[in-house]
Amino acid sequence: MTKDVTEDVKVIPGTNAFISTIDKVVNWGRCGSLWPMTFGLACCAIEMMAAGAAHYDLDRFGILFRASPRQSDVIIIAGTVTYKMAPVIRKVYDQMPEPRYVIAVGSCACSGGIFNTYSTVQGVDSFLPVDVYIPGCPPRPEAFFEGLMKLQDKIRSEEFKWSRWR
Ligand code: SF4
Repeated sequence: MTKDVTEDVKVIPGTNAFISTIDKVVNWGRCGSLWPMTFGLACCAIEMMAAGAAHYDLDRFGILFRASPRQSDVIIIAGTVTYKMAPVIRKVYDQMPEPRYVIAVGSCACSGGIFNTYSTVQGVDSFLPVDVYIPGCPPRPEAFFEGLMKLQDKIRSEEFKWSRWR
C-alpha cells in the first residue's frame, strides 16, 4: 500500500522508501544543477553577470558558471552574434556533452535586434537549436531567472533523456 506525495512520487508508509520513475529522479537532478558555459558576447552579457553576482545569486538554484564546455549543460548566447563569431560559438556548443541546452538572450541573439546589417546573424536559431528565448534589450536579471525556470520546466517534462537507446 503506497501513499501519493506528488503526482508521480509515492511513499511506502512506515518506511523511508519512495517510489518514482527514473525520468523524475534524473530530471530533478538536472534541474538543480544547470551549469552554464561562461560565455558572453556584448551588452546582454553584463546583465547575465549581474544575474550571477551576489545580489541576484544564481548559485542558490544550483546554477554555477563553468569555464569549460565539457563541464557545461547550457550555453547562454548573450549579445550580438556576428558571422565571424558564429562558427566559434558552434564549435564551443559541439564540445558540450549531451544533453545540452541553448538559451538566446536579448533581441540581438533572438533576431539580430537593431543590427540588420551585413555582419550580424539574424537569430542564433539559424545555427543552434534554441530551447528558450529571453526577449529584451537588454533583459533584466529577473528575465534571466524566468528563462532559466522555463528551461527547468522543459527538462522536467523530458522522457528517456537518460537512456542511450532513446
Ligand atoms: S539586445 Fe540590446 S543589450 Fe543585448 S546585446 Fe543587443 S544591443 Fe546589447
